[in-house]
Amino acid sequence: MTTSSSPHLPSYISAENVGPWHIYLHQVDQVAPLLDKSLWPWVETLRRPKRALIVDVPIRLDNGETAHFEGYRVHHNTSRGPGKGGIRYHQDVTLSEVMALAGWMTIKNAVVNVPFGGAKGGIRVDPRQLSLSELERLTRRYTSEIGTMIGPDKDIPAPDMNTNAQVMAWMMDTYSMGEGRTVTGVVTGKPLALGGSLGRQDATGRGVFVTAREAAKKLGLPIAGARVAVQGFGNVGEASARMFVEAGAKIVAIQDVSATLYNPAGLDIKALKAYHAAERTLVGAPGAESIAPQDFWTVPCEFLVPAALESQINQYNAAGVQARIIVEGANGPTTPEAEAILAERDILVVPDVLANAGGVTVSYFEWVQDFSSFFWSEEEINQRLERIMAEAFGAIWQLADDRKLSLRTAAFVIGCSRVLEARLVRGLYP
Ligand code: GLU
Repeated sequence: MTTSSSPHLPSYISAENVGPWHIYLHQVDQVAPLLDKSLWPWVETLRRPKRALIVDVPIRLDNGETAHFEGYRVHHNTSRGPGKGGIRYHQDVTLSEVMALAGWMTIKNAVVNVPFGGAKGGIRVDPRQLSLSELERLTRRYTSEIGTMIGPDKDIPAPDMNTNAQVMAWMMDTYSMGEGRTVTGVVTGKPLALGGSLGRQDATGRGVFVTAREAAKKLGLPIAGARVAVQGFGNVGEASARMFVEAGAKIVAIQDVSATLYNPAGLDIKALKAYHAAERTLVGAPGAESIAPQDFWTVPCEFLVPAALESQINQYNAAGVQARIIVEGANGPTTPEAEAILAERDILVVPDVLANAGGVTVSYFEWVQDFSSFFWSEEEINQRLERIMAEAFGAIWQLADDRKLSLRTAAFVIGCSRVLEARLVRGLYP
């Protein structure tokens, strides 16, 4: 038993494998004393996942052998509505990482005020090692194994790192086969042909760009002519880079798993996207100089957009960051140690739970459209997205300014308060 005040780790997480969960806990602990006193008895609710499932995912490989993968689905909190959050395929996925990502979903969904709790899932697999049909079998078996956790009014997965609309289509189909009817609302980020939403593909990148623009306005920093460095060239990194370029900025550096590219005159994002689609790597891409991975962090720029994995900006590289504004496209890219260094150096951090919330916001639009079977125009979606992101940014900025908080702490005050107010009025069952 743990009382509401004693710090602890769940028994299945040890100090050695605590991973980003410890960063999430640190963020909650920092914000707890700032919350309304009436909410304090419920803070413990944020410090542990509601439920966590580990599944074995055996699949037949193309060569006839059977391989086993470990999969997870975590419901961090469902006080405000069904669980919501993506599915990640990555060789380094762990339960504690999925717990942290689920915790950040709880806060994020509350920050943009969509009526969802927080959830996340993943499989510990390097998807680059699988053929397309192996990937399909993996996805279908995983969906079947987590079948008791998900449902359109229970928990709604979506894409995350290395998963996409096709993976969502397989998930939706597998779940629907079990139900004996087509259930489009069980996942979001689906192909348009299956009840997907216009604008979903670019939504996270668009949200990153909108919050960057709002932050820049506050600092009096023009986007036109600004230099931007982007880590990650997936769904989030590519789309946000494209939008920065459309607004007159230049992308001076891009780093992904394959390469670190630099061009102080500006990289051609369209050409890089085409090259990446054809070659599956950025190595050898035209119009760029290849630099050492660690040099990415010291590239002279106004905006730095980490849009890859957790803990990328840390105690080792934070002192070298040249940017004026960091916009967290990834979940958890900045460690608390780095955050302290950045604050001292007056570098503004637009936190993940705000900056990358555009994806789940349009996921919410998709879910609503699926339920009502009435689909909106892309213009309508983008406008609503922009409004939600700009309003959330405005409220967080205001609170940060009033109470002299970082944007992350202010976002957590707003997010945690919404979750715990719901928890408080729901009361304790039984
Ligand atoms: N995986 C995305 C995120 O981390 C989107 C989640 C969703 O749309 O449910 O926010």
